[in-house]
This record gives sequence, C-alpha cells and structure tokens, in this order.
Amino acid sequence: MITKQLPFSEDQIRQISEDFPTPFHIYNENGIKGSIRSLTESFRWSEGFREYFAVKAAPNPYLLKIVAGQGGGADCSSLPELLLAQKSGISGEKVIFSSNDTPADEFIKARELGAIINLDDISHIPFLEKHAGIPELICLRYNPGPLRTGNAIIGNPSEAKYGFTREQIHKGYRLLREKGARRFGLHTMVASNELNPQYFVDTAVMLFELAAEIHRAEGIRFEFVNLGGGIGIPYRPGQEPVNLKTVSDGIKSAYEKIIAGTPLHPLKLQMECGRVITGPHGFLVSRVLHLKKTYKNYAGLDACMANLMRPALYGAYHHITIVGKENEPAEYKYDVTGSLCENNDKFAIDRMLPHIEEGDLVVIHDAGAHGHAMGFNYNGKLRSAELLLREDGSVIQIRRAETIDDYFSTLDMAGLQNFSA
Ligand SMILES: *Cc1c(COP(=O)(O)O)cnc(C)c1O
Repeated sequence: MITKQLPFSEDQIRQISEDFPTPFHIYNENGIKGSIRSLTESFRWSEGFREYFAVKAAPNPYLLKIVAGQGGGADCSSLPELLLAQKSGISGEKVIFSSNDTPADEFIKARELGAIINLDDISHIPFLEKHAGIPELICLRYNPGPLRTGNAIIGNPSEAKYGFTREQIHKGYRLLREKGARRFGLHTMVASNELNPQYFVDTAVMLFELAAEIHRAEGIRFEFVNLGGGIGIPYRPGQEPVNLKTVSDGIKSAYEKIIAGTPLHPLKLQMECGRVITGPHGFLVSRVLHLKKTYKNYAGLDACMANLMRPALYGAYHHITIVGKENEPAEYKYDVTGSLCENNDKFAIDRMLPHIEEGDLVVIHDAGAHGHAMGFNYNGKLRSAELLLREDGSVIQIRRAETIDDYFSTLDMAGLQNFSA
C-alpha cells in the first residue's frame, strides 16, 4: 500500500499558509530532482540518454532550471515555451520542439535556438523549408494508427491528429535528405498517464523496428529515437509507480535484439516526460471557505478548477489531505468544490474524508504537472501563486498570484471611456 506523503510537516505548511495567502501551488525541489535522477539513472546503460522535460506540464523557469541542473532538456511546443527554455539556460540540442499545426515564427525561433525540430506532418516539410530552412538535424513524429491502442487521456492513435503515417514517414525522410538534412531522429508519443511498464517497452520495440525498416528501405541511419512522454503516476493511494527498472530492462533487451550488432548501433534514446517528473511533487494548498448541506454535503474551497482542472476535465482522482486530520477516520462523505458557476467544478465527488470545518487547510496531491499550467480566467478567476520548497526547507515564491489589474491588463480601459453603444 502506497500512502500519500507530504514533504512538509503540519507546522510548516501552517506557517507557509500564514506567509502566503491560499490558494497556492507548492513544489518540492528535492522530489523533482529525485524523479529526474531516477529516470536518467535507470537508463545509464544507454549512452547519451536524455530526458527532455515537457514544459507544458509545469511551465515555470525555476522548475526548468532544476531539471536542467540534473542534465535534463526541454520539450517545447510553442514560442513562449521555447522562450521559457531559453531563459532557463536550455538551448541547442537540449531543446526538442515537438509542436503541431505550427506557425512559421515558432519554427524560426526553434532554428535560432538550434533546437531539434520534430515535425508533426509531411506538409510541414515544404513549410519549414520556406520559412526557416531545413536544418541538418531533423526528427519526425510517427503515428502508428491502428497498430496501437491508447487510453482515455490521449485516445487511440488512429483518432489522434498527431504524426506521420507509416507511408508518409518513409517519404518524409527521403524528401528531407534530398533537401539537405543529414542527421535524423524518430519520435512517437502514444501514451498518457500510462502505468503499465510494458507499454513503454512495446513503444521502444515499435520504434526500433521502424528505424530498422526505414534504414533498410531508405538507407537513413538514425541518431536517436524519442519514446515521447506519458509515464503515469499513482494518483490513487494503493497504486504503484511505474517501475522504471522494468521499463529500462525491457527496452535494453529489445535494443540488444533489434539494434545492437547492426549498423543501427549506436542509437540514442530520448524521452519527453512531464507528469512523472513534477506531478507527484506539486501540491495545491487551499482553505475551506464554506460547508454546505443540501441533498449532499459540500466543502467549498478557496481554490477552483482554474487552479487544477484535471478532476473536472477527465474525472481524474486527486488525493486530498485535510491538514492535521491525517489520522482521523474518513467517515464523512463530501463533494469538494470550487466557486466556478459550473457544476463540474469539483475536486472530488462522494469522497470519504475526516470531519471538515470552516478554515481547514486542504492539500490536493499530485498537482505538480498539468495543474497550474492548465489555469484559466473563466468566470473572472485569477491564477494562484507558485511556491518552491527548497532543499534546505526554505520557501520562495516562483510566480506571484494574478491580480485584478492583470485581469484588466489586456482590455483597453481608456478606449472604453470614449466608447458608446
Ligand atoms: C504532453 C506531451 C508530453 C508529456 O506528457 P506527460 O504525460 O506529461 O509525460 C510529451 N511529449 C509531447 C509531444 C506531449 O504532447
């Protein structure tokens, strides 16, 4: 049984919530470092293995610097994400640009940074050539279609908008070589929040076999394959984290069978995980504003789905701790809600919890990836602050909370004075 731990004591989190008003997200530096280290260490057998942290999971330059400090790169998919990587000191081939439906200025910036460009579609080859030129190093994203099945978050590959078909990818590499590309990578991303280690082994086998097939047919020699992200985390107590050694051992034996001893060796491995790196090490801290009893019992927080959308978006489970009541029996059933005028603004439905009182401090677990990042301003909600719990136990603010002035800053309020309708 995996229990849900907090990286801070009750006194510590009470003090932090005195110093910084709730709601806020707080990340644990030590935990993030540990996650990226255990991923890279489990692939130590694979020379040149690199984890490109998916910036979209937690787009904060302080967190990117922590990742970079452990040798990680950045996986970006937009111009602002490329700028975040650059400002965090990550550039050149430590950046992979895995975008789709890409505007020209984003390709131009990616080339300026010397990033690995990972193309999503065959039509992007002439588009890239026209706007930014064809780089020496290029990667293509493969969509296996009906050959693989996905899961609830990412869906089935044949329904997914991403990537090249098998036929297109052969043609794509031929075309790119004609246009001057000399170094090649192969990418796929077929899983999201996947807890089965075999899934990642199957993905590696698929890419190794495809790399061998393209090598035979087109004479293209690959420098790397990128397995994408998608390693899941145990959101529920009792779930086990993905055993990275099982993943790595499985991939190693596939490598030995398909790649080692062939002209394809050495072939570097890359991943672009977001969730498994920061997810378990971020917490949304909130306070109970109201208790309401109608047809159900409601505990209304000062946070809402603008701070963490996953439960409303995917019905995702996020564990909830009522601070100081960890050892009390969970005998009361609550819907834990936010204040949006949307009935799906609930962090939990029918959750058994200890008896809740107004003012209780509530910690929502596993909010470190695709949490604050998915924030929005619907209903005039303001995004919360982000804090970092340093390894020495100190706390710094790495992003302030949005203010009402921020909310109005994109409106032309002076123009409004002269506007009549
Ligand atoms: C979202 C995404 C990732 C990261 O996914 P996680 O589930 O956070 O590991 C990696 N690569 C691409 C292309 C993505 O879209």
